[in-house]
Amino acid sequence: MDESKATDGLHLFCGGRVDGGAADAARLGHKGAHLMEMRRIGLAVPPGAVLDVHASGEVRRRQRLAEDMRRALGVAIACMEQETGRAFGRVSTEAPVPLLLAVRAATRRAQPGLLGAVMNIGLTPEIIEQAVDAGADAAFLWDCHRRFLMDFGVQVAGLAHADFENILEDRKDALGVAEDAALMADDWREVAMRYAELIRLEGSAQPPDDPLEQLFAVMVALAGSWDAPRVREARKIYHIPDEWGLALVVQAMVFGNRDERCGAGVAISRDPQSGEKLLCGEWLARAQGEDIVAGLRNPWPIAEEERRRAGLDVPSLEHAMPDVFARLLKSVAALEKHYRTPQNIEFVIEQGKPWLVQTLPARLGPQAALRAAVEMVREGVKTREQAVCGIDANQLEKLLHPVLERGGARALAHGLGASPGAASGEVVIDAEEARRLAAAGRSVILVRPETTPEDIPALQVVRGVLTARGGLTSHAAVIARGLGIPCVTGVGAMEMEPGAGRIRIGNAEIRINEWITIDGASGEVFRGRMPTRQPALPETFHTLLEWADEMRGLKVLANADTPREAKVALELGAQGIGLCRSEHMIFGTERLALLQELILAENPAQRQRALAQLAQTHGEDFLKLFAVMAGRPVCVRLLDPPVHEFLPRLDSEVEQLTERLGTTPEHVQARVDSLREYNPMLGHRGARLLMTLPGLLGMQVRAMLQAMQTLAERGEAPARLEIMAPFVMSVAEMAVLRRRIMAVVEEMRAEALPLTIGCMIELPAACLNAGAIAREADFFSFGTNDLTQTVLGLSRDDAGRFLHDYLRLGLLAEDPFITLDEEDVLPFIRMAVERGRQGNAVLQVGACGEHAGDPRSIRLLAAAGLDHVSCSPYRLPIARLAAAQAAVQADACADSCSDA
Ligand code: PEP
Ligand code: MG
Repeated sequence: MDESKATDGLHLFCGGRVDGGAADAARLGHKGAHLMEMRRIGLAVPPGAVLDVHASGEVRRRQRLAEDMRRALGVAIACMEQETGRAFGRVSTEAPVPLLLAVRAATRRAQPGLLGAVMNIGLTPEIIEQAVDAGADAAFLWDCHRRFLMDFGVQVAGLAHADFENILEDRKDALGVAEDAALMADDWREVAMRYAELIRLEGSAQPPDDPLEQLFAVMVALAGSWDAPRVREARKIYHIPDEWGLALVVQAMVFGNRDERCGAGVAISRDPQSGEKLLCGEWLARAQGEDIVAGLRNPWPIAEEERRRAGLDVPSLEHAMPDVFARLLKSVAALEKHYRTPQNIEFVIEQGKPWLVQTLPARLGPQAALRAAVEMVREGVKTREQAVCGIDANQLEKLLHPVLERGGARALAHGLGASPGAASGEVVIDAEEARRLAAAGRSVILVRPETTPEDIPALQVVRGVLTARGGLTSHAAVIARGLGIPCVTGVGAMEMEPGAGRIRIGNAEIRINEWITIDGASGEVFRGRMPTRQPALPETFHTLLEWADEMRGLKVLANADTPREAKVALELGAQGIGLCRSEHMIFGTERLALLQELILAENPAQRQRALAQLAQTHGEDFLKLFAVMAGRPVCVRLLDPPVHEFLPRLDSEVEQLTERLGTTPEHVQARVDSLREYNPMLGHRGARLLMTLPGLLGMQVRAMLQAMQTLAERGEAPARLEIMAPFVMSVAEMAVLRRRIMAVVEEMRAEALPLTIGCMIELPAACLNAGAIAREADFFSFGTNDLTQTVLGLSRDDAGRFLHDYLRLGLLAEDPFITLDEEDVLPFIRMAVERGRQGNAVLQVGACGEHAGDPRSIRLLAAAGLDHVSCSPYRLPIARLAAAQAAVQADACADSCSDA
């Protein structure tokens, strides 16, 4: 880069100039952009300048400041001197305290703790002597200087913070005092000298004697910190891309540690737990902001109300400095009005005047965020659209499930948080035993290597599920989310040995029937029983979702298989059922034995007997489900799982079948073995099963239509039935399936019933053939779980074993089973929507995989032109909100959604 250009990178907020604002966070860092924005709206912000991301990147690469950059900084410093009336590196009788500078590194998103800062730049022992001679307070200046040396030691010279703290503690111990305030000028001088000595002996760099050189050295070091191992690691955790880079904010110091009329603090404009409009937070007299952030002293509450509630006997800011408190309240109100979202500010009080040195969006708990958003609409601060945009949709789910009161408990092991909520119960590793104990009123956590369809009845009655294997869309996870019970999957540190009477979790041995607790939100497993709390749904939850419903274009339906799930779905706002996995009505009930008989039937008579009995019992399931849904859409998917999942596994099941089929156990076992598959997820399942197992499709359709007719005869509204074929790959399949379904409709004289026929789109071939398939289908529903699996060639059950490595190595940006893969899977969806609508102009298109409950995926699906999403009942509020966020114009969202 041409060196003469470097000065373009320095932007002032000083004197009459403000060279940027909130929109410039990418260039100036969140901190720099919002300091400028605060000055723009007339708030008291100390003057400064920002070296932008590009120019800071140059400093990082060259490891020095170019000549004209130094000159430009000189101009900026002159401006700060002018505004503050203090001189940098010089002392005068009018201004005995020199101008000191702070340098803070910042990237585009506020991420507290990510990047460093060095404060109090600009003092040397000589300058301090001169300043004291000119009338400045020696204790204050030596305190400032030792703070600079500590920051320099940590940020530039690579030393540990604790080493500096220990020196200060030693000094206090030697004096027999507990508080910093008890230290005199000589003590601070002594501490500063010992800091300097520590850096001289052990530091990788030395603080320059010249104030300007101090500034330059700090800027070079902080610019380079972007590549420091700790920052790299943290950036990964926070998903901060390399290319964001950092900017450097150089700002005039204001002093909270000068005397008793000074202080520093952090304030939040609403109570972070309740959302109540109350200036919350903490402050300390005679302190710099670091003292609070680093937790070195116990801070005091800001509002008198907060102090009273906490029963503390310390001075609140409101009581100690009522004028300052009043001015802060005014500033915070102006900030909330301007940003239309609760703010978290850092302030410094210098001799009775409050200064703002940072503002960022406050992080509120889910309940508090809702209350603040709704109340801010009622206060006229923001619009409903902005309120809807400003809530993190994922946070809503936390309100629906019990939360753990964990105290200081440490987890035994971590897995994937696959279904939120927390539960305690006895460890049981056998599904039958789990059912038995749960029926006897015991609290059970079912612990399995992985779950299979046979575990479904147990899953209905246990408190939670824990599996050693599996991912977020594996069987256990999907079922648990539907049931709203907590589930932790993929706990690699869990070992189970059949018959051992105990399991191993991490380093601990847990006996069967011993209590454990699982947290399905964080994926943690704890020993013993821990208290949980069921949060009551606040009024603001319903209000916000009603607003969201008015804004959204996407319909929101539920994945529900039982009347119980259907009722929860309706309570949480479902407009219908978008996916009823009909196999879930069969697994774990007496219907399974009938289906096994059908699959293994030795002759047509046996087949007919099984079919007739199945149609009747299956019909009862549909009747109950349709009755709950009272006239709303219900999309029933015909049987999907690979045939072997229905086969008998236990000797007792084989024996029973032997009797019914009139053959030998060996023969039944041989048939079962012949039907086993090695590649079940791509095997004899879905449309392939319906096509080849005689009578299966007819039985299911008959059962559904019979249920509809019964409801109609009773005078009740029949559901609007949608019959959906799974795993379809071609129009030839779809045409046959449609014809067979219509044949049953005719046979049952059910033409007048409200019925549509469609298919799941779960295969790349189906996306390619979508135009032709759509001519045989009234609707498509993207099975994004399987589509992700088949497009990427990643097994949804086993990929968990290596996905975290892929994420760690940056080979995948996100887990594609959680957030829809934009690069590879989304284009297939877009193509299928486009081709499908060309084939059938009135085609309805939805999605029902787990992505349909994920906010970011919902935005992508809405943009792809879908008509609906269908998700597990407990994710409905998230989907309703995310659908509204997708619909609201981006600019209505811009300043309330983002913290960038
Ligand atoms: C899917 O594949 O996305 C889907 C909804 O079907 P299932 O999860 O039952 O395979
Ligand atoms: Mg599927």
